[in-house]
Amino acid sequence: MRLILLGPPGAGKGTQAHRIVEKYGIPQLSTGDMLRAAVAAGTEVGKKAKAVMDAGNLVSDDIVIAIVSERIDQDDCSKGFILDGFPRTLVQADATEKMLAAKGLDISAVIEIRVDDAVLADRIAGRYTCATCGTGYHDENLKPAVEGVCDKCGGTTFKRRPDDNRETVRTRLQAYYKETSPLIGYYYAKGKLKGVDGMKDIDAVSADIEAILSTL
Ligand code: ADP
Ligand code: ADP
Ligand code: ZN
Repeated sequence: MRLILLGPPGAGKGTQAHRIVEKYGIPQLSTGDMLRAAVAAGTEVGKKAKAVMDAGNLVSDDIVIAIVSERIDQDDCSKGFILDGFPRTLVQADATEKMLAAKGLDISAVIEIRVDDAVLADRIAGRYTCATCGTGYHDENLKPAVEGVCDKCGGTTFKRRPDDNRETVRTRLQAYYKETSPLIGYYYAKGKLKGVDGMKDIDAVSADIEAILSTL
């Protein structure tokens, strides 16, 4: 199963990708996570990407395509994968088609998580993750059972992304509408697009995605 999760920043792509990983045992390939790892490691790619990401703009297609192409060749992707935050431009979408075709593969489905713009700023501003295991939380919508303790690993340190502030949300939404939303038409025309209502609560969205995946 090779999936693409599409939707604006804060829609719930990462949250839902984690649940699909647990259920189906296929890896989540998040270009955002990969780029943040490159920034933290201080690689050449990381140095180029940092300022662009902090401002809420998109990193160049070449860089991101190269990162994903390498990652897909690793053994754990042989049974499938979930692309989270990629492709994000039509150039990336075309490159993905060609890259997969050359490997004899294709995309099974594209799941578009639809969310009103009005809630995105709150979702992004309230987002944080466990620094130990990466589990995602939210100040209001998804708190750990015991305050300050990760449900999954018991960790007590949490982190927030530097770009998760209300100032960058506008830039990131603009980048989404300008560069990424054309992919909705692109995949619709290929008969691959499946929409889910991302305004529902997290479990309800998971159930709707599950219903789609069971038909693939
Ligand atoms: P979100 O979870 O808010 O949708 P991501 O973690 O996917 O955000 O991405 C964070 C930042 O990383 C983006 O604002 C952008 O600068 C960069 N980025 C991630 N994926 C891509 C991509 N496919 N193409 C270009 N830039 C990307
Ligand atoms: P994305 O990867 O699309 O940028 P995330 O999965 O990181 O989005 O979700 C953004 C924030 O919103 C997180 O803090 C998450 O806990 C919360 N969230 C995700 N899905 C929902 C939902 N359906 N309802 C309410 N909050 C949600
Ligand atoms: Zn944890």
